[in-house]
Amino acid sequence: MEGVFGLHIVKHGRDFAFPDYKPNYPRSPDYKLEHVKAEIKVYVFEKRIEGKATLRLKSLKNGLSNVELDAVDMSIKSVKMNDQAVDYDYDGYALRVILPKKLSRGDIVEITIDYGARPKKGLYFVLPDKYYPNRVPQVWSQGESEDNRYWIPLYDYPNMKCTSELIIIAPKEFTVVSNGKLLSVQEEGDWKRWHWLMDKPHSTYLIAVAIGLFDYEEETVDGIPLQYYVPKGRKDDIKRSFARTPDMIKFFSEYLGVPYPWNKYAQVCVSEFVAGGMENTTLTILTDRTLHDEKAHMDFESEPLVAHEAAHQWFGDLVTTKDWANIWINESFATYLEAVYRRHWKGNDEFVYRLIEDLDAYLREYSTRYARPIVTRLFKYPSEVFDRHSYPKGALVLHTLNNLVGEETFRTILKRFLEKYKFSNADTEDFRKVVEEVTGKDFEWFFDQYVYNAGHPELAINYKYDPESKQLKISVRQVQKEDSWDEYELPLEIRVATKNGSRKYNFWIERKEQVFYISLDEKPEQVCFDPEFKVFAVLKIDQGPEQWIRQLKCEHVYCRVLAARALAKFRSSKVVEALKNAVIHDKFWGVSYEAALSLGKIGTEEALLALLECIKTVKHPRIRRGIVKALGNFRDERAAKALSEVLENSEESYYVRAEAAESLGKTRWEKAHDYLVKHIDAPSHNDVITIGAIRGLAELGTKEAFKVIKEYTKLGKPTFVRIAAIIAMAKFPEKREAIDIILEASKDENSRIRGAAIAAAAELMSPKLLPMLDRIASEDLSDGLRRRAREVATKIRRALEKGVEYKLLREEIEKIKEENRRLLDRLARLETKL
Ligand SMILES: [Zn+2]
Repeated sequence: MEGVFGLHIVKHGRDFAFPDYKPNYPRSPDYKLEHVKAEIKVYVFEKRIEGKATLRLKSLKNGLSNVELDAVDMSIKSVKMNDQAVDYDYDGYALRVILPKKLSRGDIVEITIDYGARPKKGLYFVLPDKYYPNRVPQVWSQGESEDNRYWIPLYDYPNMKCTSELIIIAPKEFTVVSNGKLLSVQEEGDWKRWHWLMDKPHSTYLIAVAIGLFDYEEETVDGIPLQYYVPKGRKDDIKRSFARTPDMIKFFSEYLGVPYPWNKYAQVCVSEFVAGGMENTTLTILTDRTLHDEKAHMDFESEPLVAHEAAHQWFGDLVTTKDWANIWINESFATYLEAVYRRHWKGNDEFVYRLIEDLDAYLREYSTRYARPIVTRLFKYPSEVFDRHSYPKGALVLHTLNNLVGEETFRTILKRFLEKYKFSNADTEDFRKVVEEVTGKDFEWFFDQYVYNAGHPELAINYKYDPESKQLKISVRQVQKEDSWDEYELPLEIRVATKNGSRKYNFWIERKEQVFYISLDEKPEQVCFDPEFKVFAVLKIDQGPEQWIRQLKCEHVYCRVLAARALAKFRSSKVVEALKNAVIHDKFWGVSYEAALSLGKIGTEEALLALLECIKTVKHPRIRRGIVKALGNFRDERAAKALSEVLENSEESYYVRAEAAESLGKTRWEKAHDYLVKHIDAPSHNDVITIGAIRGLAELGTKEAFKVIKEYTKLGKPTFVRIAAIIAMAKFPEKREAIDIILEASKDENSRIRGAAIAAAAELMSPKLLPMLDRIASEDLSDGLRRRAREVATKIRRALEKGVEYKLLREEIEKIKEENRRLLDRLARLETKL
């Protein structure tokens, strides 16, 4: 698509914006909210609230006659201005307060709204019921992106900051945590009144509360209290998930050159959370799924999530995106800082591998769903831009910027940006200008190609050494697709190793096709491109298995991962041997893991024998996951037996056993069913073994497997187990009952379960599910699901059209063939006549 909106956009990408989408611009009201005070009584067991919100606001113009607030599905009891009742209009979505007399610019008034609500969103009630009798009651909020308006009437958009105050009255057995500092707690009969004050301005979507029965621990770092709240009974898990929090707060303060900006940092774990974590100011709410036991600690990490949310206290909370179009200002920065923390914590190899994982995650979205500019105004729901473009792709863009300007300068940019926009909002142009201020250079080109336009550079590289001229000739072609920027500009570092050592050369890519020459006295042993992964680009290096095998021993992790992956295309004994060697001996687990997967893809008898040897010798659980996954590619009794042994072994990590269960199903071994059923209820972290067994059974695809899986789709099973079982229904396309289960799931109260129904439809691609998808697309409570359903429905319809086209084409060909036959007949007859 060619662009019309904005100067910069040339490539909108593909399949992201639907035809009816219109550009979104920031809201711009005539008033400024200064302070929100909400006193809310929470009737936990009735899932309802009674509230009184007092908003102090300032007129931004002369003659302001009314104020419009966001307030969804509330019963408004009264509205007052400075204690006097005033008129208002309410349509269930916006509350328009009619001011008794017009305000002048700068006038300040207080508007008080008495209201009640049974929030469908924004504030969530998790309660025991007949299916989940053991659930511990909890109430927690999730404001981002625009859901706080379901429980507090306010201005609900990021581009305005105010101080906030929550007075929460809850049954007295509960603990209430909110933003900022606790001013008082008072008992009032069966109730307790918790008074919290956030005395620094923040965007209203960051207002939050968590109510529950918690175990609690506190420590301090640099005078800042760090608080950890976990569900009662899980105190022992606090350390494993949060022990690195003080180090993170210290590290980010130091790296960014801006000390932690708030008075405390609380992290609260809640159940059935709708996201992984949410960086509410001073109060991050996290899924309790991040808590884990000693055994899971072998190969499960809380740190990435904890670091991401902690980084948001600067990028997201202190400086906040001005609108959803620029959400990468929050998310890419948090994602990149999470990787930077990883480098500090675990070293450079882990850092680079995280960036590779970021690239993979973005490319999966790019190739299976859509391409869009990181900053685009064309969306319908804010949730649509919280995707792999805003998180990992943006992180890689920041990484590229970091390498272009040098890390010291990059840190100066971040510091300047934070200081300039603290307690305020910023967009991409604000950031670009800080980059230009600090570097003294123009960066329009950089933001245009990487941020304001879709796609990414793909470099097809080949090289050849000419012994006569003693020249190494390197050809680089930009082969990115139509949806991407035409000609990217980027640096490319090339490392050339000869017998006498190695040297690095730097080139600048700026045209579709370029050729570079390096004078070399002798033949290169190895040529590596962007060995340290400094630049966001996809490299397609053309070299033979011998070169790849040598590259598999390069000192750089990025080179080794590329080599391990590339070698999957070659099947010789030498390649298998090299990969096996990497699985067993590489000093970084990520390379071993990749090498194991490649052995699985090679799929020969030798590869199988290599993997069977690896599973016996390798201990590292992350590598074992790769080996076990790879073994799933063999329909062979030896692979199946090895997998069943892993599954049976309770000493193995939960995640290795889970992977083994899925792979065991893929082998289709006759005994697989019995093993999977035997272990399907094995206790594990977040039920991963149960989920692995369900997936394994789905791979078997038998009647008996269906019967087992069906039970796990039911209410009463843990949410994530149900999700896996519902998605598994897609493996039974001929079963009417499977379709019925998917349809049933699409009406579930839990949005994650409805999401599973859409995921199943995406796999099944059955036109029978179109009415379900259309219904979700038009009326689901969750915007994210609406978009997803529309996307899948569009895909199914396209496939159908293609099917019809194909059918028509076939018919046409048949007709022509028939015609041809008749003509030949006639010709033959004519010939005989003649
Ligand atoms: Zn985030």
